[in-house]
Amino acid sequence: MIILLKAGATRSDADELLSRIADCGLKPLYMPGTERTVLGAIGDERVLASLHLENYPCVDRVTPILTPYKLVSREAHPADTIVHIGSIPIGGEHFAVIAGPCAVENADQMALTAGAVRSAGAHLLRGGAFKPRSSPYSFQGLGLEGLKILKNSSLQTGLPTITEVVEVADVEAVETCADAFQVGARNMQNFRLLKAVGQSLKPVVLKRGMAAKLDDLLLAAEYIVSEGNPRVILCERGIRTFETATRNTLDLSAVPYLKQKSHLPVIVDPSHATGVRDLVLPMAKAAVVAGADGVMIEVHHNPKEALSDGAQSLSPEDFARFMETLPDLLKISNKRQG
Ligand code: PEP
Ligand code: MN
Repeated sequence: MIILLKAGATRSDADELLSRIADCGLKPLYMPGTERTVLGAIGDERVLASLHLENYPCVDRVTPILTPYKLVSREAHPADTIVHIGSIPIGGEHFAVIAGPCAVENADQMALTAGAVRSAGAHLLRGGAFKPRSSPYSFQGLGLEGLKILKNSSLQTGLPTITEVVEVADVEAVETCADAFQVGARNMQNFRLLKAVGQSLKPVVLKRGMAAKLDDLLLAAEYIVSEGNPRVILCERGIRTFETATRNTLDLSAVPYLKQKSHLPVIVDPSHATGVRDLVLPMAKAAVVAGADGVMIEVHHNPKEALSDGAQSLSPEDFARFMETLPDLLKISNKRQG
């Protein structure tokens, strides 16, 4: 940790800080400059956090050298983590396609859509039973009934499932019916929910909040892993910007950034990132080439009739076209399906 002192700081100010650093068992460094003095503290920075050196009037800035997240960082764990959802590996050289409707609407819709994405080659099935909608008047999902339909679709197709959990009280039901939790953008910093899924051993797809920095996403993942669940998959799903042509702005640089900073798998959701059907496949392809470990794509057997996110849902035919291009794209990113 580097501690920059203000211009008027005295030698006795510096000595007070140096002795506090030493009292914590860290090695203090004194580096007087011509205009400013810099102090250093070598050792476990977490010990120093409790001293709040930034509160001292003589301190201008405290800069940690290590990342604020530990367990999810590459510094702590250089090898890629591979997370299995059911039997499907994600991460390292393994690439997975998650497809399905925004929401579970009824048994027929799920049978038709799940069957179609399976025939096209999807590896995992998505579908929300609890829908966190911006408006209270929009379709809110079928709840527990939706979880049962999703589970049935999984049994019929053999595809493992991912579904969103929006509150702590539903963690157990989702855990019983699905193969992975999704924590959505709106709940990325719902810390009680993060802790609750952290106490499960089911994988968690953690979506970036629409106004969250990448380091906030990594700290949210740290909440889950620090509770004991190492099976976290990070998901870039677009962020709010001044642009209104698209629903969100896909921050594709998130993929290489997150993969450099963390060992966790990183996937991209081009559906919520764009909100526009015709933009979904170009951005899905870009995500593969950028090195994502998977994509999550909304597909509906009849997008015109979808109860939520129909405008960004692909038809089974469009989705099948993407799956046909995937082998060539994966050659560029040196990954393989499954
Ligand atoms: C979803 O995947 O259905 C969803 C609501 O996504 P997000 O949390 O990214 O908005
Ligand atoms: Mn959706």
